[in-house]
Amino acid sequence: MASRLKLARFLNCCKVDTLSSCYRQSIFKVSCVRYLSTSKTNMTDKKLFTPGPLGTSPSVKSAMLRDLGSRDVEFIQLVKDIRKKLVNVAGVSGAEFTAVPMQGSGTFAVEAVFQTALPRTNAKVLVFENGAYGKRLGKVCEVMGVEVDVVSFPENEYVDVKKVESLLKGNNSYNLVAMVHCETSSGVFNPVVDVGKLVKKLNPDCTYFVDGMSSFGAVPLDIEDGCIDFLVSSANKCLEGVPGFSYAIARLSKLMKCKGNSRSLSLDLYDQYDNLEKTNQFRFTPPTHTMLAFYKALEEFEKEGGVTGRSARYQENCSILKSGMKELGFQEFLEPYHKGYIITSYKFPDDPNFNFNDFYMKLNERDQVIYPGKVLNADCFRIGNIGYLFPQDIRYLLQCIKDVCKEMNMTLPLKK
Ligand SMILES: *Cc1c(COP(=O)(O)O)cnc(C)c1O
Repeated sequence: MASRLKLARFLNCCKVDTLSSCYRQSIFKVSCVRYLSTSKTNMTDKKLFTPGPLGTSPSVKSAMLRDLGSRDVEFIQLVKDIRKKLVNVAGVSGAEFTAVPMQGSGTFAVEAVFQTALPRTNAKVLVFENGAYGKRLGKVCEVMGVEVDVVSFPENEYVDVKKVESLLKGNNSYNLVAMVHCETSSGVFNPVVDVGKLVKKLNPDCTYFVDGMSSFGAVPLDIEDGCIDFLVSSANKCLEGVPGFSYAIARLSKLMKCKGNSRSLSLDLYDQYDNLEKTNQFRFTPPTHTMLAFYKALEEFEKEGGVTGRSARYQENCSILKSGMKELGFQEFLEPYHKGYIITSYKFPDDPNFNFNDFYMKLNERDQVIYPGKVLNADCFRIGNIGYLFPQDIRYLLQCIKDVCKEMNMTLPLKK
């Protein structure tokens, strides 16, 4: 509270006009960064070990402490730069692919791709799923009234490429195949490149769509090699911006054939693209603050070494988490041959004194936010290690988990 008052006092001291000129000289920005990073009692205190929303850096947050008009030359340039940078992050050529931002959370971009990539009549979709986010792909089609076959795999397994092959052989009736890269409900990484190659080999006209929400930017993925036509992610996953928009990396040769497909005005990815190309402006109110923050997040991403650097930090976070939890006796939901490093699911321990709600609340009191499980066939909780999290944060979380277990009179290490 005291530091919040301090910030309020600081803001009151600045006259409005000096504030904006201060901003230009970055004085205000620097002060805010300093405030946010040193203060003990502010809204950034809680560490989010979740699948999203995720923690962001003080400098990313402070980058959005200003208002910008949607037609401002600076904003127009910002949109242009962000789209270009996203194509770079995707590792594809700007001549063949484009990045189209879409207002809203990740699911908005998912729905926009289905709306835009599917013909208005006789559309048929095939979804491979092994968890809640894969199921959501099927749900979007259902709600749209599109015919969809959802093929399910166990939640603790990959989507099986052999089975995919046998299903696709001799069935050319699908317009689009969709699946999730990192199934955030369990942590499984799916073989999206192998599936994409099969889709193109067995049904060359079929569109291939990957939900790369929780992997884009942190898990190396060859979009070309995987024959991916559309890939979506959002501002607040591994690129560590604040929530507010999502985006599609779209193959131009596909997107150009999508004019007039969408039955939704706001989710029309083609129209959004067309307008951005012509004017560099969004069709409807753009998420200006979110985009300011996102630009900063992209700069920090590049500074960390792009996909290589970010994946290295997340892998280190994950391996510290896994060995620390193992030491305490917690059991992972997935077998060790799974190599996912975004989020880890843990089985509820078999200790009579364990109670998830208490465990969650006691960690929360220590400003550590974990997440309930999202798999159907086991009682689990999840610990994510993406977002603005570093090895020291994971070590501190492990210490807190140990303390909470002791407080709950659980026996450590837990019995198998
Ligand atoms: C986070 C996430 C989404 C999008 O969820 P929103 O709540 O709409 O942002 C979709 N798919 C996966 C795999 C995700 O991790």
